Amino acid sequence: AKTAGRNRLRFFAQPLEVSAQEQLKLGAALRTAVAQHELKLVYQPVVCLRTGQVHKCEALIRWHHPERGLVSPAQFIPLAESTGAIRDIGDWVFHEVTRQLQLWQARFGPDFQVSLNVSPLQLAPGAQDVGDWVRALRTAGVAGKSMVVEITESLMVQPEAGIAARLHALREAGVQLAIDDFGTGYSNLNNLSQMDLSFLKVDQSFTRRLGQPGRDHALVEAIVGMARSLGLQVIAEGVETKEQEAVLRELGCDYGQGYLYARPMPAPELERYIARQRAA
Ligand code: C2E
Ligand code: CA
Ligand code: CA
Ligand code: CA
Repeated sequence: AKTAGRNRLRFFAQPLEVSAQEQLKLGAALRTAVAQHELKLVYQPVVCLRTGQVHKCEALIRWHHPERGLVSPAQFIPLAESTGAIRDIGDWVFHEVTRQLQLWQARFGPDFQVSLNVSPLQLAPGAQDVGDWVRALRTAGVAGKSMVVEITESLMVQPEAGIAARLHALREAGVQLAIDDFGTGYSNLNNLSQMDLSFLKVDQSFTRRLGQPGRDHALVEAIVGMARSLGLQVIAEGVETKEQEAVLRELGCDYGQGYLYARPMPAPELERYIARQRAA
């Protein structure tokens, strides 16, 4: 997991024109971002391709930097991972989603789910005490099954015993697991099948090329087939066109998420979106 964090940082340091000094400044500002209430969550609906209904959404973090304005998570999450700030940030995300679920469980019914992104570093040895999370869910009266933890495939390549134990503790509490960005890594099918996952999220790079001739159609078909045989549900990310949606439905994909339906939005807007969608 540590190696993955380093690689990601190296990858990100190249294309972004941010000097080392800028990085240091940003890293320092990030350490106080939680305390200064600069972080917000936005929520993107996940749509059932069979019924068109919305019973799920994904929480995505936003950082409103006092001078720079909005900083993308693609930029600051790798930085938070390399400085260790990811632990406080990840805790904040978890508690914020728990608070939101406390309200939404009653409002949208017991089947409503919110997923959150968890960095591999949060599950690395000595990092997150998952027991605190489980207790927080219980204290808030939030059913574990209304929360989905999204982890990346990189975790599955060389799963460490400690990570497996933490994921298992979450599963014991009813929390569901999803593999994010599926298809971009090299997960071992055997590890996948032993993980007690609920969802596979097909990376948007595959969705993007659907509806065009080429191998990606077959790739998504293979992913859906594999998910079926493992008993998992499939969520396609980055659905932007009706054509992509039609192909995904034809391939038997369960859910779609993307700009075709909605962009990530603040909680009150999501509430209005779901109310409108349920009234229709
Ligand atoms: P991700 O988990 O793969 O999230 C999906 C990203 O795709 C989001 O970008 C979302 O806004 C964007 N997206 C959704 N629909 C479409 C679409 O139709 N077209 C396109 N082009 N993009 C779409 P965002 O919010 O900028 O997040 C980027 C990444 O940052 C996430 O990728 C995730 O890896 C990370 N991230 C976001 N929030 C958190 C968090 O709370 N914790 C951690 N550890 N990572 C987070
Ligand atoms: Ca995700
Ligand atoms: Ca993803
Ligand atoms: Ca991603």
